[in-house]
Amino acid sequence: MSDVRVRIAPSPTGFFHIGNAKTAVINWLFARSRGGTFVLRLEDTDTERSKPEYADIICEALHWLGISWDEGPDFAGEPQAGDLGPYRQSERRDLHLGEAQRLLESGNAFKCFCTKEELDAERERAQAQKRPPRYNGKCRNLPAEDIDAKGGAPFAIRFKVPEGQTILDDMVQGTVKTENKEFDDFIIVKPNGDPVFHLAVVVDDGLMKITHVIRGDDHLSNAMRHKMLFEALGYDVPKFAHLPMVLDEHGKKYSKRLHGANLLDWRDDGYLPSTMLNYLVLLGWTPSEEGRELFTPEELIDAFDETRLGKSAGKFDLKKLQWLNGQHIRMMSVEALCEALLPIMKTAGLDTATKDEAWLLRMTEICQEKIPTLNDIVPYTEFFFNGVTEYEEKPVKKNWRKEGVVERMDAMLVAMESVSDWTADALKESFTALSESMGVGLGQFTNPSRLALTGKAVGPGLFELAELLGRDEAIRRMRNGIAHIQALEPQA
Ligand code: GLU
Repeated sequence: MSDVRVRIAPSPTGFFHIGNAKTAVINWLFARSRGGTFVLRLEDTDTERSKPEYADIICEALHWLGISWDEGPDFAGEPQAGDLGPYRQSERRDLHLGEAQRLLESGNAFKCFCTKEELDAERERAQAQKRPPRYNGKCRNLPAEDIDAKGGAPFAIRFKVPEGQTILDDMVQGTVKTENKEFDDFIIVKPNGDPVFHLAVVVDDGLMKITHVIRGDDHLSNAMRHKMLFEALGYDVPKFAHLPMVLDEHGKKYSKRLHGANLLDWRDDGYLPSTMLNYLVLLGWTPSEEGRELFTPEELIDAFDETRLGKSAGKFDLKKLQWLNGQHIRMMSVEALCEALLPIMKTAGLDTATKDEAWLLRMTEICQEKIPTLNDIVPYTEFFFNGVTEYEEKPVKKNWRKEGVVERMDAMLVAMESVSDWTADALKESFTALSESMGVGLGQFTNPSRLALTGKAVGPGLFELAELLGRDEAIRRMRNGIAHIQALEPQA
């Protein structure tokens, strides 16, 4: 194993957002491609918004994506993994406070006794004078006797921002430079004794020996403070990579309210985890093989190279995602696909228990090349189970109101009755012969008969589905179709 150690540090305050998922995928690929360690740390210190069930959702989403962590909290009966835990930030409070104490002792932090009222008044003065609100440094250099004289008065601990500049060589954003005087002496422990995010994240990354902090670019300005804290605490400063966020199809930040913001919406919509892994990385990374888009997880691990992480935000493209999902479906083994489809069919009320395994595998095979999502299996196969309950209006207009359609349907019925071997190949041969002998295109036969057999315009290949329906049922449906055409009201 290499020294590379990366982490994701999601806050369990809601569902697992696709932005978080993208960050997770990139960290995971980085770790796996470098033979490093991937750590999951739950930043659950916001006691009001964090909930254990949200933590479970994060773990579940990662499991679904196929992202396994080498170190992380216990989950679903699995014990905590790793020696540098605990991996729930709420359980690390003593470590954070101990490190804050160390900063006080080394003179890199100080106790601030300013009351909320004083700070509010200072803020209002700044506003009135149109100055940015800043801490005025009142307690920065309090003599020891003044501090002693405060007795048990509550205090915050503030970090003493050093003079000079902070320069970050970000792996994605390039060199970012700030003058330290732009920063206040910021609070690292609140007067109620709670460590602040900046302290907690740096102490955790430092003690967990994280070598690369790869996260959303909403944390870029925080990273300047973090770097100062890393240095003051004497930890090795990790490399930083701040990734652009995921944008929706209109180029706006992917809102939490949008369908699909929750990674697991895609699972519910019938997308494969391998598709999402593939798609999410493409939102922020370009492979060196120009134009290539389709990757299995293993291929991604081989191809991933952090130097090709992009600086501009990836815009969500549903068409591309659908296409990619179709490709991933085609790459599955028929057995694995069938296994993934059966629960979806059962949930939709299709009684798959009435079919044997060979039938179900064949059904899978004839749909594998066609369905864009797993959920499409339901409209693609429900007619096998439910019969034809109605005929879609549009294809009825298009196919069943054509000149000569009854003659063609009748001819097909005869052909079906006389085909000796009820297989897709034999059916195709006999329909092709009909089309040639009657001098009419094959579509004039297949489209109206598809409607009779399935009630729909779209579905698996006609000859294949007819084979699976069986001769008697197919013929019965053809007869019903013909009767329906004959009973159609003349068009106004
Ligand atoms: N808990 C932070 C968040 O969810 C992550 C901070 C980090 O990755 O450093 O935004």
